[in-house]
Amino acid sequence: MIVILLGAPGSGKGTQSKALAALYGFSHLSTGDIFRAEIAQKTELGKKASEYVKSGKLVPDAVVTEMVAGKLEPGRRYLLDGFPRNVEQARSLDGLLERSGSSVDRVILLELPQAEALKRLTSRRVCSKCGAVYNTLTRPPKVEGRCDDCEGELAQREDDSEATAKKRWMVFEDLTSPLIAYYKAEGVFARVDASQEPEAVTAALSGLVDGGGAGR
Ligand SMILES: [Zn+2]
Repeated sequence: MIVILLGAPGSGKGTQSKALAALYGFSHLSTGDIFRAEIAQKTELGKKASEYVKSGKLVPDAVVTEMVAGKLEPGRRYLLDGFPRNVEQARSLDGLLERSGSSVDRVILLELPQAEALKRLTSRRVCSKCGAVYNTLTRPPKVEGRCDDCEGELAQREDDSEATAKKRWMVFEDLTSPLIAYYKAEGVFARVDASQEPEAVTAALSGLVDGGGAGR
């Protein structure tokens, strides 16, 4: 079984991937991990990929797809993370899977309204003295703006600023909407409301993995 998880920034994709792996024995495949492994093992594909990486170019879709497809063994459960990144990769993945008589079973979007995503992405605060990490939503300090441990001033990192969060959100939307259209047409697409409590999101994902509910 092959499940592709698409997660809006702030949707908790990492947490949910782990939950699905624990519940159903999914192997979690991320392109970053595969790249690093192939390059380290100096495989043919690894060599090809590292040439592109070294010259600062994007690894071509065909090479990326070959790498990922090479990891998929029939009869096992896979959760793909960060792949396919575009419709080109989705098409070539389908082609490679077809040859081995399999296909993508489910493509699930962890959907989060933009306002909620921005709230989550910008809620992190870091102590400027000791580096302790807080979250204004899930782990607020006892006194606003002050570290519980050292009373240092809590500040927001540049990465967590509203402007950066908005940019990440737009990039995700741009990359993902063509993929959604592609997998909708294939009849394997489903969405889950990621603004719910994490347990409820996991339950909704479980329902989709166990069967039913796709195509909306
Ligand atoms: Zn501190």
